[in-house]
Amino acid sequence: MTDDHPIPDIAATIAALNRRITQAAAGRAVTLIAVSKTKPATAIEAALAAGQLVFGENRVQEAALKFPPLRVTHPDIDLHLIGPLQTNKARDAVLLFDQIETLDRPKLADALAAAAEREGSMPNLLVQINIGDEPQKAGVARAEADAFIRAMRARFGAALRGLMAIPPVGQDPAPYFRDLVAMADHHGLPVRSIGMSDDFEIAIACGATQVRIGSALFGGR
Ligand SMILES: *Cc1c(COP(=O)(O)O)cnc(C)c1O
Repeated sequence: MTDDHPIPDIAATIAALNRRITQAAAGRAVTLIAVSKTKPATAIEAALAAGQLVFGENRVQEAALKFPPLRVTHPDIDLHLIGPLQTNKARDAVLLFDQIETLDRPKLADALAAAAEREGSMPNLLVQINIGDEPQKAGVARAEADAFIRAMRARFGAALRGLMAIPPVGQDPAPYFRDLVAMADHHGLPVRSIGMSDDFEIAIACGATQVRIGSALFGGR
């Protein structure tokens, strides 16, 4: 085999990740989101065969190509959008995803509300916080977070489930994770989507309830 990105033994990898998650969670429930962006349906099928049902994708169009056929045989797939969402794709996103983790501006809230009304269903929503206030990153600025979360709570009620963040690279992520969890606590929001391949155990120690793991599960991209 000369494949640059061989599919690792996905079942064994998922089992090992679940052991690490369980150990770090110390009795709390933490959900593994298998981030399958750029990976082929065959890799997702291998994960499904290993019992993994929660997946994350960062592009609406890619998810729309890969997941509807998989849902035919696995209707209980739980699909999360973890990448930026354009307002003109809100309707597609509402139809495709069980959880949208990247709500970060009023115009997108308007588009999601309209799409949900039209389609008669609303996915779970997370507000993405730009927890490091990085100019190039998506998410709500920290100074605006409280007001935005309150407004989304008023608008979407219980569909607003929690917060998501991606801390700055090259820094200790723990203070950022703790701040995100404190924000979620303050607003009484149960879901905290933080932690990726390199830092999920730290995120869990800080209070993550969902970790988004790509390369440590499916191999490099
Ligand atoms: C790609 C991606 C991940 C997974 O990253 P890995 O380092 O491969 O685990 C998690 N969250 C978001 C938002 C991503 O885009």
